Amino acid sequence: MGRTIGIDLGTTNSCIAFSDGGHPTVIQSKSGSRVMPSVVAFSAKGERLVGLVARRQAITNPKNTVGSIKRLMGRRYSEIADHINDVSYEIVENTNGDAAVKILDKIYTPPEISAIILQQLKATAEEFLGEEVTDAVITVPAYFNEIQRQATKAAGKIAGFNVRRVLNEPTAAALAFLDPKERKRLVVYDFGGGTFDVSILQVIDGVFEVKATLGDTSLGGDDLDTLLVHWIMSEFKSETGIDLSKDNIAPQRVREAAERAKCELSMTQETDINLPFIATGESGPVHLEITVTRKLFEELSADLIKKTIPLCSKAVEDAELTIDQIDHVVLVGGSTRIPMVQKLVEEFFGRKPAQSVNPDEVVALGAAIESSVLTGQRKDLVLIDVTPLTLGVETLGGIMAPIIQRNSPVPTRNSRIFTTASDNQSVVGVHVAQGEREIIDGNRSLGTFELRGIGSAKRGDPRIEVVFEIDANGILSVSARDTTTGQEQSIEVNPSGGLSGADIERLRREASTNADADRIKLKLVTLRNEADEVIYEASKVIAVASEELDKESWVELETELKKLKTLRDTDDTLALAREISDVHQLISSVSKLIEVFESDDDDPAAEFMDSFAKMEDGDKLPK
Ligand code: AMP
Repeated sequence: MGRTIGIDLGTTNSCIAFSDGGHPTVIQSKSGSRVMPSVVAFSAKGERLVGLVARRQAITNPKNTVGSIKRLMGRRYSEIADHINDVSYEIVENTNGDAAVKILDKIYTPPEISAIILQQLKATAEEFLGEEVTDAVITVPAYFNEIQRQATKAAGKIAGFNVRRVLNEPTAAALAFLDPKERKRLVVYDFGGGTFDVSILQVIDGVFEVKATLGDTSLGGDDLDTLLVHWIMSEFKSETGIDLSKDNIAPQRVREAAERAKCELSMTQETDINLPFIATGESGPVHLEITVTRKLFEELSADLIKKTIPLCSKAVEDAELTIDQIDHVVLVGGSTRIPMVQKLVEEFFGRKPAQSVNPDEVVALGAAIESSVLTGQRKDLVLIDVTPLTLGVETLGGIMAPIIQRNSPVPTRNSRIFTTASDNQSVVGVHVAQGEREIIDGNRSLGTFELRGIGSAKRGDPRIEVVFEIDANGILSVSARDTTTGQEQSIEVNPSGGLSGADIERLRREASTNADADRIKLKLVTLRNEADEVIYEASKVIAVASEELDKESWVELETELKKLKTLRDTDDTLALAREISDVHQLISSVSKLIEVFESDDDDPAAEFMDSFAKMEDGDKLPK
């Protein structure tokens, strides 16, 4: 077994950490980044780009760039219909009714896209640690249901990880924030790009216990961006009469600018949005120039942000606590940087949120701590998590019969006895669902199975025991047994984003084959970027040299530059790398010559020698 890492697989950004002797450290990429954008893009040539490179090209390639995939994980197409217009890529309904993504005529399930992000994180970790990484603890919003957890686990498997634990994000944050030796109660208010949740935890003698958790998986910073985008577009329309929403590229540009403006407004009172050539009007190109104030942003977003407060209140009530019994409030997720969010949280809890945590890193750090517990490096803490939503089965008339109540500590097991609805009924259907509604249709269906071979009996006589069991990862198994005949049937609720076990295995193999190809492609993209910089640098140097030096001192640079320009568009990474290095060396030697030449110009000693020489010719001495 190789290393285990902790992964915060975020809606907008992802962060990874490892634990050394039980102490967590964030893993940086080669370029020094501590977080990676959770963005995947496909170029027209079929190249896969991940992270910053993918985000950078989003404006020019919006249809083939996938961001915020976490919002689609384990979701039915019907559940996300409202958000379909908020993204620039195409969301489609998979054959099983789940949401999927269609890129360049190929359909990808959300776990497949997430797996591409995870694969990149794995490669970054392996590069940083210099050893193989095989295992991972991956975090999910506390309020993710079974299907969303399973989809995340499937993504991890496809990326080649042995997923040791699917850990709730607030629990991870608490692990990183609290000292196991303390006796404290903590609120984790987690407002990210796509989800909101709030959890109440306590630590007593090294036992971390989640007391309650609540949330909304469709409420996040992306929704605030959408509000701002709609406002900008409607202002633009009333000023120019042009509807930007119909354009191919403009909506993505506006969304990027809106998100940037939103983040700036966390620091300043107003900011300008400038998008030149956003549209073409009757008299030529039209530019978008607009000022957004913090006051306006707060007016637009107040209702949405305020939706989080009743959830906080309910979570405290569920934990059977009062607000004054809370010792700390920890903010997690990028959207908690919004001053209005901080103000509302402070007002509600009557205390300032802890300032010592970095909301972008604390979850990954906690996941790394959990990995050190699982690998036996740390023995000073124990985790008791809860299941966020009630689990039950459908009974006659479409009514949900709860078997495990929400906020039950996991792992857990519970059973209930059911019976038949008609005489001599030999088969019963067991329909498993999750949610808080009493009507089954209002809850999320997790799966169905049939128990056959029930002994012949009058209705109401057979005793059918249905057992629900949740393991430490929150993964549910359900079994049904006729207590008279002993007939039994069971399922592990395994709706991995519409993927069967065989699908996951196939995708894992494909991903691992793709990983090599991807690494080569990534290398090529990196080299091409490097080549562009070197080409730019060389052209600048040649321009100066052609004015100041003899051609023979820079002609070689010019020849090699031409070669580099040709190689830049080939796939020959080896030759390209060599050429970049050659041109680099030539730039440096020509630059040195220019420096010498220029320093000759203003070297005081040289000036003196010049004037001395001239003096011999009878000129006057300088004063
Ligand atoms: P996360 O899911 O935790 O990565 O959070 C990402 C969300 O936080 C996105 O919607 C970002 O736009 C938002 N975000 C990041 N930084 C800021 C900031 N300074 N002010 C407001 N929102 C931010």
